[in-house]
Amino acid sequence: MATIEEGMALPCENGVKNKFLWKWLDEKGDEDVIHRLWLRKVDEPGVCLCTVCGKKMKYGTSGKKILYQHSKDKHHKQKLREINIVAPLPGFSLPVHGTPTPRLSDGNTLKPNSLDRIADVKIKTVSFISEHDLPFTIAPDLIKYAQNLAGDKPALNKCTLSNVLHLI
Ligand SMILES: [Zn+2]
Repeated sequence: MATIEEGMALPCENGVKNKFLWKWLDEKGDEDVIHRLWLRKVDEPGVCLCTVCGKKMKYGTSGKKILYQHSKDKHHKQKLREINIVAPLPGFSLPVHGTPTPRLSDGNTLKPNSLDRIADVKIKTVSFISEHDLPFTIAPDLIKYAQNLAGDKPALNKCTLSNVLHLI
């Protein structure tokens, strides 16, 4: 079973009552989480996959309703929280009126636009994971890895694929 990249040709779905539509990816499920975070189309007619639960779903009979139903599933929501996509970062408090600068638990402050930047990092990480068909459980390790690499920016900027391969 392989997943199909967004916009690529879909398998023939003749005989499937409700055919898959790419726009389903941008629809919101429970708690306004967009399906794109977990939904992938696979190369089987009438079947899609939740990459977070590893569960296949058949949309042929009831169409996209099944996606919304899955988004409400307790186990699914728990998994999403575990990989920290929908939950706020630990120790992070959302800005309230009068206190525009969020403060981290270690006392460091973040610049006002940092919430957007954190959201951006999360989106980039999720996109990377889905583009490469990796399990979402890799997210915390991937973030740690990126933080580690970002510690030596000059070396990182000079590192190209050809000299990485040279090391191997
Ligand atoms: Zn799921």
